[in-house]
Amino acid sequence: EALDKLIDLKGSIRVFCRVRPSISTNYFMTKSPVTVEQEKIVVRALGIKKEFSVDRVFDQESTQEDVFQEVKPILRSALDGHNVCILAYGQTGTGKTYTMEGTNGKLGIVPRAIQELFSHASQDSSSTYSFSISMLEVYMGSVKDLLAPRQPLFRSTECNTASIISILATKSGSVEVEGLTDVAIQDLKKANQWYCRGKRARSTSWTNVNDVSSRSHWWVDDLFSHKFSFEQYPILCALALFVCSLTRITIKRSGGPTEELSKLWLVDLGGSERLLKTGASGLTMDEGKAINLSLSALGDVIAALRRKRSHVPYRNSKLTQILSDSLGDGSKVLMVVHISPSDDDIGETVCSLSFAKRAR
Ligand code: ADP
Ligand code: MG
Repeated sequence: EALDKLIDLKGSIRVFCRVRPSISTNYFMTKSPVTVEQEKIVVRALGIKKEFSVDRVFDQESTQEDVFQEVKPILRSALDGHNVCILAYGQTGTGKTYTMEGTNGKLGIVPRAIQELFSHASQDSSSTYSFSISMLEVYMGSVKDLLAPRQPLFRSTECNTASIISILATKSGSVEVEGLTDVAIQDLKKANQWYCRGKRARSTSWTNVNDVSSRSHWWVDDLFSHKFSFEQYPILCALALFVCSLTRITIKRSGGPTEELSKLWLVDLGGSERLLKTGASGLTMDEGKAINLSLSALGDVIAALRRKRSHVPYRNSKLTQILSDSLGDGSKVLMVVHISPSDDDIGETVCSLSFAKRAR
């Protein structure tokens, strides 16, 4: 409850930073340029020291449980009828999927959050809750429904999801993706089954992706050896969004039942690395460009909300259009910016921290 108040005092946008543990085995040879001092990240390079403040830092020792403890109060807002958006931002390989989804029994925010919703619902005797989920992907500027029923005519993964093009603003000011599949979930197990199915329907191959991101600096090496192509590394091409819709029905002592609807968005954003800056020629950059456009549009929207601008540029990308009723007034936003501890990633690290700074 105290944390809830803190969030209200600080506005509805919070920024966390998580530093990935070092992967490389010979890492002990060099000192990391990234250090954590309370809620500050300090980056040292070439004799220059830069400091970035965020609302909460998770260092290399932090556990999934530590992160979730800080996420919990925001979930309460979703249960209380507010729209909530939790976004993982950062360079590929810095742990976005680890934080959101988790691995090998180290559960991330998505499964823990769903579990928390169910457990809250079972304890709250004054209201009845129902939950449903949808999964979608923004791919090259179009929106794909990842839980759409399979089309028997098309066998390949490419064709078994429907492309949806329209995003509708409804009378109440909320946003709806037309025709988006919405499945009711009664327990964590069902939610997990649908989640796995949604992952399989993505434009990107999940298994390859895991291989790729556990190799350090893979894309830099390959860019310089001119072997790089987006077919090989499709993780960069898509943004996956997971949303849980909550309905709370409360019977008030005076009058009839009231119904509250809210959305909990859990978003593993596409890699934020700046491919355009590499100047590599002859490569297919369209997909990388699409990702970078979405991310910068998101940054612009959050910066405008933060500064209470009258015009918020939601319309500049599909991503911000879809999230528009969950980023602004009355909603809670949590951005978890992920950074690498490595020397070689220092450029990307500073870019990601600058993104975080703009959001605060
Ligand atoms: P991203 O989704 O940002 O590309 P991943 O989540 O795939 O990055 O992480 C890359 C690799 O690093 C994975 O093997 C992942 O398990 C590991 N990893 C990331 N963050 C952590 C962490 N905080 N603790 C332990 N391992 C991590
Ligand atoms: Mg990932």
